[in-house]
Order: sequence, then C-alpha cells, then structure tokens
Amino acid sequence: MSFLQSQNGIRHAAALNGVPLIATRAAAAQAVPTSDELAARAQAVAAVAAKHAPAVDRAARFPEEAIRAAKEQRLLGILVPAELGGEGASISDAVDVCYVLGRACGSTGLIYAMHQMMVACLIRHGPDSAWHHRLLRRIHTEQLLLASSTTEGQGGGDLRKSACAVEQEGSAIALTKNATVVSYGAQADAIVTTARRAADAPSSDQVLVAFCRDDYRLEHIVGWDTLGMRGTCSAGFNFEGGGKIDQVLPEPYQTIHAQTGMPVAHLTWSAVWAGIAASAVDRARAFIRGAAQKGNAQLPPGAAHLTRATASLRTLRAVITSALKRYETAAGNAPELESLEFQTSMNLLKVTASELAIATVSSALQASGLAGYRNDGEFSVTRHLRDAMSSSVMINNDRILANVATASLLVEIPAWLTK
Ligand SMILES: Cc1cc2nc3c(=O)[nH]c(=O)nc-3n(C[C@H](O)[C@H](O)[C@H](O)COP(=O)(O)OP(=O)(O)OC[C@H]3O[C@@H](n4cnc5c(N)ncnc54)[C@H](O)[C@@H]3O)c2cc1C
Repeated sequence: MSFLQSQNGIRHAAALNGVPLIATRAAAAQAVPTSDELAARAQAVAAVAAKHAPAVDRAARFPEEAIRAAKEQRLLGILVPAELGGEGASISDAVDVCYVLGRACGSTGLIYAMHQMMVACLIRHGPDSAWHHRLLRRIHTEQLLLASSTTEGQGGGDLRKSACAVEQEGSAIALTKNATVVSYGAQADAIVTTARRAADAPSSDQVLVAFCRDDYRLEHIVGWDTLGMRGTCSAGFNFEGGGKIDQVLPEPYQTIHAQTGMPVAHLTWSAVWAGIAASAVDRARAFIRGAAQKGNAQLPPGAAHLTRATASLRTLRAVITSALKRYETAAGNAPELESLEFQTSMNLLKVTASELAIATVSSALQASGLAGYRNDGEFSVTRHLRDAMSSSVMINNDRILANVATASLLVEIPAWLTK
C-alpha cells in the first residue's frame, strides 16, 4: 500500500493486491491530520525531547519523557490506515516528524524513525494478514513502540543475510536469535525481526516476523556505551521468541526490504540527521549573531563556516525532499521500486545524507569555535556531532558504496537534467 497526495490535498491509501485497506476519501478526510495539526503535535513532543536531551545523552538512557509525550500526542500510529483505526498519514508526514524530533534530540528522532520504518513494512506487506491488521490497530490504539532486529552475531550490517531460522511445528513457530544490536530492545512493546524462512533455507531466503512483548524473552548480552545516539539504548540480546505462523509477514523479506524497509529507513533516518544538522546550524547562527553584535556588526572570522554549514544543510534538505517525492510517486509501482536505478538512488541517499549531515555539523562547529566545542553552554554542538557521526556506521557507508558499485557501472547517466 502507498499513501499518495491527492489533488485536493487529501491523502489516501492506494490499493495494492486488492487490499481491503483502501482508504476512502471520506474516511481519509476524517482521519488524516492536517499539516498544522501534526506540526503542533510534533513540536509539543520536540519541546519535551529537547529539554531532556542532554540528560539522555549523558546517562545513555532511553528518552522516556519524549517517547511518553509522543504516545500522548498519538504520534506512533499516524501511518496506520484509517480502515484500521489509524490516521492514514503519508510517509512525508512521518519524515517531517522525524526531522522535527531529530532537531530536538537525535536519539528520540532515530527511535521514532526506526519505529515508523517497521510500521510501514507491516502496512504494505501484510495486506491480507488478520494478525498484522490486529497489531496495526493496537499500534494506533495502544501506541505500541516497535523495535527492529536485523543485526545478528558478528555479521554487521548485512541485512540481506540471516543465520537464525524460524522453526515451525504445525501452526506454532519459535525463533532464537543472537541479536547483537537492537535499539530500545528492552523498552519496545514489540520486535520485528529478520530470520531465515526455515532451518533448511539459505541465509538469503529471509522473512520478517513480528513478536509482541509477551511472545519473547531477552537476555542482555552487551551494553550500549557509544560516542553518540546514546539514548537509543541499542544493546545486544539473546532473543527467544515463540508465536504463530501468522506472525510471519507473507511476502519475502527481499521484497519488503526493496520496496519499503530500505527506502523508508533511509528517508526517515536522513530526516533525523537533517534535523540534527539544522539544530547545529541554529546554534552556530546564534553564536555568530551574538559575536557580530558584540563586534559592532563586524562578522567574526567563523562566519564563512556558517555560510558553508547553511549551504550543506540546504543541499541535504533538497536531497531528502527530492528522494521522498520520488518514493511517494513510485510507491504504487512495485517494478519501479525494485528497479536497479531506484534501488541505487535510495541506497545512495543514505550515504549522501550521512556525509552532508556530518559536514554540516562540522562546519557549524568551526563557525562557533570553542563555544561549539565545549560540552556545556548554549552553543555546544558536541552532542550533534557525536550523534551525526553514527550515520556513517549505521549500515556502514562503505558497505553500501561497495554494494552499489556494480550498479554504478550499469545505470546510465540521464541525458537530460530535468526529464
Ligand atoms: C545508532 C545505531 C542504531 C542501530 N540500531 C539497530 C537496530 O535497532 N537493530 C539492528 O538490527 N541493528 C541496529 N544497528 C546496527 C546496524 O544496523 C549495523 O548492523 C551496524 O551499524 C553494523 O556495524 P559494523 O561496523 O559492526 O559492521 P559492518 O557493517 O560489517 O562494518 C564493519 C566494517 O567493515 C567494513 N565493511 C563491511 N562490509 C563491507 C563491504 N561489503 N565493503 C566494504 N567495506 C565493508 C565497513 O567499512 C566497516 O568499517 C544500529 C547501529 C547504530 C549505529
């Protein structure tokens, strides 16, 4: 399913495989939040997130106040279609919320982004699944928080291979996974995880399975004391889950990853990193303004770095909005989504956004000098820099660049700039 912006501005869900989730215009009109209303709700959460961000970062603790506020503002179920009781908001809406939250607290933004990426997968790839429909309803009514588990053992960021396998006996399933990185695994209400389809399946024959909290047990194996994104609490666990075969999404993970998981992850994560970069630029601007006032309107030497930061932030925002437009236009067209060209551009979005976010924050730091370099004070951008640095290792940029190397040889450079 995709969410499209109709000409009269009412977003509604498009049909996929004759899904009984098709939002009627009337239903969507009732449910879809207006941009102003959504912005106000996101800003209310951002205010809470910003207030607690330094403490969250210092203690590497879960941003419980911000996530509670997000639940109170009913932001966790915005993507859930109106037919399932949700708001039927678009991916653009979710991306905007990621940006606003990332601007306040990188960890809160990233938690929200990872949650929405999994919600998007459930919506699009469980169209006939009563079990997943029930879960989606609960995500809206109970404001459940979903975590994602792809990283396994020492396998790093290779999402397209699993070692663990779904074991099936009749309608019952069991899964044991060495889940070495699961952001907010201990705090989530459900974990959506990759696994091999069956014990005799090759590592690339994967499925996506949702387990609610009562379905699994987590044994803590490694902590999360990192440079940045400390509030995501991305600890490692031995995961032991059990449930019903209905909890396995019907489509292969290969399809889910190509059509939804990867593009929505890269769009929402990039929005969070852009939010972090925007916040660093805000601080650098305030510093340069203050310095100019003290210097009788004479701009300090660091002003050129602020210009550079502003320029890279503009490019970053443009890169994300253009990719977002492309995704929402292609969302109803599976072959287009799976085309080499589209996959390459969405993969490269992550690398480009990561590099631009880091460059923007670094320029903001140069603009404000020691005031930005300090861990304390209103102009500090140290948390921003540390959080932004996570973008290049979260599914390593090198891995992505290596994966798209062949595609770069095959995909032709367009003859025209605008067509
Ligand atoms: C903030 C944050 C939150 C996260 N949250 C989650 C989560 O909720 N759930 C989850 O499952 N995982 C999560 N992860 C983990 C993430 O998905 C990746 O698994 C992880 O970032 C991989 O890190 P790695 O350096 O160990 O592995 P790798 O990606 O294997 O990289 C290791 C090194 O090998 C190099 N390398 C690896 N492969 C190649 C290649 N093909 N070509 C060239 N170089 C290569 C890289 O340059 C890198 O230096 C999170 C990570 C971060 C940073």
